[in-house]
Amino acid sequence: MTTQTSRPEPKRLFIKTYGCQMNVYDSERMRDVLRPLGYQPVDTADNADLVVLNTCHIREKATEKVYSELGQIKKLKEAAGGKMTIAVAGCVAQAEGAEIMRRQPAVDLVLGPQAYHKLPEMVARASRAVGERLETEFETLEKFDALPKAREADGPTAFLSVQEGCDKFCTFCVVPYTRGAELSRPVDDITLEARSLAAQGVREVTLLGQNVNAWHGAAPKLEGGEEWGLGKLARHLARIGGFDRIRYTTSHPRDMDDDLIAAHAEVPQLMPFLHLPVQSGSDRILKAMNRGHTAEHYLDIMRKMRDARPDMALASDFIVGFPGESDQDFEDTMSLVREVGYAIAYSFKYSARPGTPAADMFGHVPEEVKDERLQRLQALLRDQQASFNASKIGETIPVLVTGKGRNPGQLHGRSPWMQAVHFDAPESLMGQIVDVKVAGATLNSLAGEYVAAVEVA
Ligand code: SAM
Ligand code: SF4
Repeated sequence: MTTQTSRPEPKRLFIKTYGCQMNVYDSERMRDVLRPLGYQPVDTADNADLVVLNTCHIREKATEKVYSELGQIKKLKEAAGGKMTIAVAGCVAQAEGAEIMRRQPAVDLVLGPQAYHKLPEMVARASRAVGERLETEFETLEKFDALPKAREADGPTAFLSVQEGCDKFCTFCVVPYTRGAELSRPVDDITLEARSLAAQGVREVTLLGQNVNAWHGAAPKLEGGEEWGLGKLARHLARIGGFDRIRYTTSHPRDMDDDLIAAHAEVPQLMPFLHLPVQSGSDRILKAMNRGHTAEHYLDIMRKMRDARPDMALASDFIVGFPGESDQDFEDTMSLVREVGYAIAYSFKYSARPGTPAADMFGHVPEEVKDERLQRLQALLRDQQASFNASKIGETIPVLVTGKGRNPGQLHGRSPWMQAVHFDAPESLMGQIVDVKVAGATLNSLAGEYVAAVEVA
């Protein structure tokens, strides 16, 4: 007798991701949980069976983009005779809930960042038009437990979520309301997922968290069971082998401890790149933002990092025009930028988010003042980025090859300092770490000549 296994019919899944790396990771996990149901990723929403918008709520513009995209997708759904399921996931889903289905009735499902493991069940219910269409509970550990531990890797780099949520409550930020309280994943779970990624050829892993350096957990019993912080976790992942490069993002100055700084001096796999947002250089504004640190505390961390790893590339986020920000406060931010010297930075105009304390503060800064400050800050940051990139000209640097370049025969990859690097070399080098001699630099990338493949110990 022969047994027949019935495979589900292939279905087309289109996921559009907005916002941070956390969302990029969550989209990958949504693909993972939907794969057993026969969903295969496609590059366009046309003719897709399931469209997921994984949204970002951080600034007003990001939220409005979602509604305009939904208008376009509704047209595709109509053209397909209604045979398309539309799901809104992520932080807009968490914050706006059922309001989304009211504003755009073509939406079938709304699910917050802690409900992705329930997606297959929700999709099945939607196709039968029964049951709950809204899931916005905060049950982070339940999500982590329910998601498959093994992942299908897609190339030589991967994200690995180790920490979720935030309870720092910076007065401008929606994250504590959309992502819930800070929670660390247990070491054993992280180890399982890390091993699965390494076994599939991932060479560079980026540990993710809203405040990734707030991660803490009990060490495995064999290693003593004591409480670990992120520095110990990085050492552990370096020890179990498999990864040539380890990164982590995004960190908070309040959670930066000496052990993590020391790990940068000791662990060669830990890449010399630190994204540590400061937001402002003025202590008055930092206090109003409830950041819990001063400019001097932040500068002290940056100095220690550079002592531990002199080639450390530093990155930050800035907000200009926070309520009450005076000309002098802004000048303090400019001074801090000059003092640190950034390799890259992201800067934004303050955007009032309903429900956050800053939205109700006095002294909102006029839009034209915000514009002018942002332009000045970005001009300075661009200069620093260009000179950081130019400083690599003439050096031979290790590059992880991540894909084909735009021109025939060209490859691209990533430097230890997160720069994009282009060079001509055979395609067979894909996924390897190779030496490239840097010949030129622009604001956003380096160009160089392939020297040789690197033997990694
Ligand atoms: N947890 C990280 C930290 O504390 O630095 C950052 C998380 S947040 C998702 C990313 C960035 O968005 C922030 O660093 C901040 O610069 C920016 N941001 C958050 N809320 C904002 C707002 N209301 N207006 C403008 N920018 C904002
Ligand atoms: Fe938002 Fe502040 Fe938490 Fe970062 S630390 S996610 S800016 S509340």
